[in-house]
Parts: sequence; structure tokens; C-alpha cells
Amino acid sequence: MLKKLMLIPITLISISSGAADNNYAGFSYPNQAQNAISITFDDARHSQVDTGLAILNKHNVKATFYVSPFNVKERLPKWKQAVATGHEIANHTSSHVCTGNFEWLRQLDLSLEETTLQWLENDILSAQAYIKEQLGVTPRAFAYPCGNTFVGRGINTQSYVPLIAKHFDSGRTWLDETANNPNFTDFSQLTGLRIDGMSFGEIKTMLEQLRGNNSWLILAGHEIGKGAQYTTDAHILDQLLRYLNNDRNGYWLGTVSEVADYVEKHRDQITQ
Ligand SMILES: [Zn+2]
Repeated sequence: MLKKLMLIPITLISISSGAADNNYAGFSYPNQAQNAISITFDDARHSQVDTGLAILNKHNVKATFYVSPFNVKERLPKWKQAVATGHEIANHTSSHVCTGNFEWLRQLDLSLEETTLQWLENDILSAQAYIKEQLGVTPRAFAYPCGNTFVGRGINTQSYVPLIAKHFDSGRTWLDETANNPNFTDFSQLTGLRIDGMSFGEIKTMLEQLRGNNSWLILAGHEIGKGAQYTTDAHILDQLLRYLNNDRNGYWLGTVSEVADYVEKHRDQITQ
């Protein structure tokens, strides 16, 4: 079934662009790395600054934190420290609104099904203003809460991807199955690969499976501590960063905006 589905887009590409599909292969990163990797965490969970920051700083790895103000407020000095040590602070909305199929959101009367693009834009811009005022940086990157990219229902559904493309240099989704082809990917829908709850071996297998096309892999987690469904294990993060930092393994590590800038500058021209 999967094989059958995968054949369809390949056929379409070869019909529509002929030999041009080869343009999406081959890309060079700094230090002759085969792939780029960005480490990202969502929601500004307290454990990210309580536990994670020391691990990242120990390995001198700069992460991208997609934050919501309601959590930043409770650890403001630590988030200022994250900025001071060179990590990227990015936007994850003020209200963290997702599909109302999440019971806790619907009980707060928050759901993408029942909201509008205008409401969402205000929610995103109020997070932007808070981050600018309190942390002194203007986020260039955005992560879609729960990976959802729509508002409304059925025939009235609208994508909010264009809104993100208007205000940010990049937008990242969540729970994706593929990495980003640097010559092809849309910066406003960068894919995100879950590392929460995974062992080092499982993460390594995933990285190996997605090495093709000089892909850019954006790893995404939530809590940092003892591994669970929404927690990246602290010891595994330590092990992973040591592995990724070893030049022999062929990875170039950068924040999302750092890699996005590099990719944009060095990739073939893509028709927008
Ligand atoms: Zn989130």
C-alpha cells in the first residue's frame, strides 16, 4: 500500500517537469557535512531551561526554542540566559490553539475549528510582542502548535500557512515522516521529527533512514528529563549531541534560522 502511494508523486513529477526533478538532488553544507540538523523544543516547558540548557551549553549546541509567553513568564531570567548563550527564540503562539479534539483546549473554548485567521494572527503577534519586549529578540521562526496548519471546518477551512509566510522566515510542523530536501522544501512548512520518548538507538536509526538527498533534519521535543511520551530523555540528549558533534558522523548543526539562511542562499532557484 505504502509503495503504491509513493509511486504516484514520482510519476506526477516526471510528467510535469521532465529532467528537472534531478535539480532536487545534491547539496553542500559547511565542513563537507552530508546533512544538516537542527535541535528544537516546543512550548517553553520549564525543564527546557531547568535541565536542557546546561546539556546544550555543555556541547556548545545552539537550539531553537519555539516558545509561548505563558510558560516563559514563569522562568524569565532563565530564558534571558538562553538568549545570552546564543540559542534561538522562536514563536509558538500565545494561546497554543490546536484542533479542539484535544479536550483540554476545547474546555478553554480554544480550537482551530472555531477560530478565524484574524484571531490567530493577533494571537501570534501578541506572542511576538511579548518576546521582543521581555527577551529583546524578534523571532524569525514559527512552529505550528500540534502541527496543525488550518482554521475552520469542511468547505470553510482555510490554511494559515500564508499567514506564517507573511510574518516569519520559516514555519515548522510536527510528527512528520520525512526530512527536508534542501533544494525543494517550503520554508513555511518545514518538517519536524519527534525525538520525545525515543531511545538513542531509535533516533540514530531514524537519522540514518532519512539521510538521503542531503536532507535537513529538524528534531523536535518538549520536556527534557526522564523519557516519556512528551519528554526527551536528558541522558539520551547528552549522548545524541556528542554523536552529532563528531565530524566523522557527517552532520552540520545549526539553529533553524541559521540553516534556513544557508539553504536559501545555496540552493537552486525554486519557482515560488
Ligand atoms: Zn506545542
